Amino acid sequence: MKIDRVEIRQIHLPFISPFQTSGWVENGNNSVIVKVFSEGIAGWGESSVGRFPNYIEETSSTVLSLQKEVLVSLMLKKDITHPGELSDIFKNVRGNRFAISGLESAVWDLWCKTKKQNLSKFLGGKRERVAVGVSLGIPENKKELLSLCEKYLSKGYQRIKIKIKPGWDVEPLKGIRKRWPDIMLQVDANGAYSIKEIKILESLDKYNLLMIEQPFHYDDLLYHSVLQKGIKTPVCLDESITSPDKAVEALIMDACRVINIKPGRVGGIVNAIIIHHICRKNKIPVWCGGMMETGIGRAVNVCLASLPGFTLPGDISANSRYFKRDIVENPFELNSDGTLTVPTESGHGAIVDEKYLNKITINKTIIK
Ligand SMILES: [Mg+2]
Repeated sequence: MKIDRVEIRQIHLPFISPFQTSGWVENGNNSVIVKVFSEGIAGWGESSVGRFPNYIEETSSTVLSLQKEVLVSLMLKKDITHPGELSDIFKNVRGNRFAISGLESAVWDLWCKTKKQNLSKFLGGKRERVAVGVSLGIPENKKELLSLCEKYLSKGYQRIKIKIKPGWDVEPLKGIRKRWPDIMLQVDANGAYSIKEIKILESLDKYNLLMIEQPFHYDDLLYHSVLQKGIKTPVCLDESITSPDKAVEALIMDACRVINIKPGRVGGIVNAIIIHHICRKNKIPVWCGGMMETGIGRAVNVCLASLPGFTLPGDISANSRYFKRDIVENPFELNSDGTLTVPTESGHGAIVDEKYLNKITINKTIIK
C-alpha cells in the first residue's frame, strides 16, 4: 500500500460546557484531523491536542507543522505492508507523539479498510461492548458536583472520576461518599500536587477509591513510587507514561498499580498495544483514557478498549457528553448497561460527516 495523498486540518469543535481541570479550562476540541489516501480509499486519524501545551508539550500548531514539514514526507509514496512499519519510518523523530499518533491511526484505518478488517478484531479485541465512566471537571461548588454525579449515574455510567487539586480533594470526596458509599469512584489531579502535600494524598486512602491518578508532576515516577508504597489505593499514571519503556520503568519502581493508556500520549496504537501486553503480563489493569476526542479518536479508543487487559471502565463517554453535534454520522451512544458498543465496520468504524467537518475546519492543507 502506498499513501498517495494526505489532507491535514485544524478544527475547532465547541464543547457543550467548558471543562475545568486542576490547571486549565478547555472550551472545545482543537484537534488536528488527518485523512490519508491510497488508490481512492481513505483512512481517518486524530491528534487530540489543545491550543496550549498544558496537558503535554504538543499543541495543535506543533502537530500541524510537524506533520506538514516532516512526517508526511517521510511516509508519502513509501510501500507500507503493515501500519507497524511506521515506527521504523519515524524512528529518528523524537517526541511529538500526538503528531505521530494521528497519522498512524489514519494509516491503521486505511489499511484495515483495504483488508476489509475491523480494527478491534485485528488488534485482538475480545469484547463487543466496553464499560465506560465519566470524568467530571472541577465545578463551582460541592452542590454542583453532586448534581453532576447524580446526572451521569442516572444515565448509567459505571464509574465517576473527579478532577482534584489542593483545596478541592477531601471535601468533595466526603460529599460523594456520604451519598453514594459504593459507587466506583476515582480521582485525577493532572500533576497538581507537590511531594510536600503527600499527607493529603495519603488521607484519600479511606475513601475506597479505584485509583488516584497522576497526583505528582507530569514527568515523575519517583514521588509516585513513594506514595504507592505508603497507601493501599492504586496509584494510576497517565501523563508520566509516554512509551513502553516508561511503563516498564514505572512497574519496576512500583510507581503505579494501574495505567491509563491513551494512544496519542504514547505515540500511537502500536505502543498502546505493547503497553497493554506488558501490563497484562504483570497483572496490572489498564483502562483507556480520553482527550475529549471527536468521534474519530473516540472510535480508535473504543476499539483499543475491547482488548482483554482493559478491565477498568474507560474515560470514553458517549459523544453527546461533550458535543452538541460531532463530526461523525455514527456517534457512540451509551447502552443501558453503561457500555459503548465496539464498532464492527472495516477500519476503526467512524463515518465522518465531511460537510460538518468542513464547517468547523480552521485551515486545511493537502500534500501529495
Ligand atoms: Mg488523567
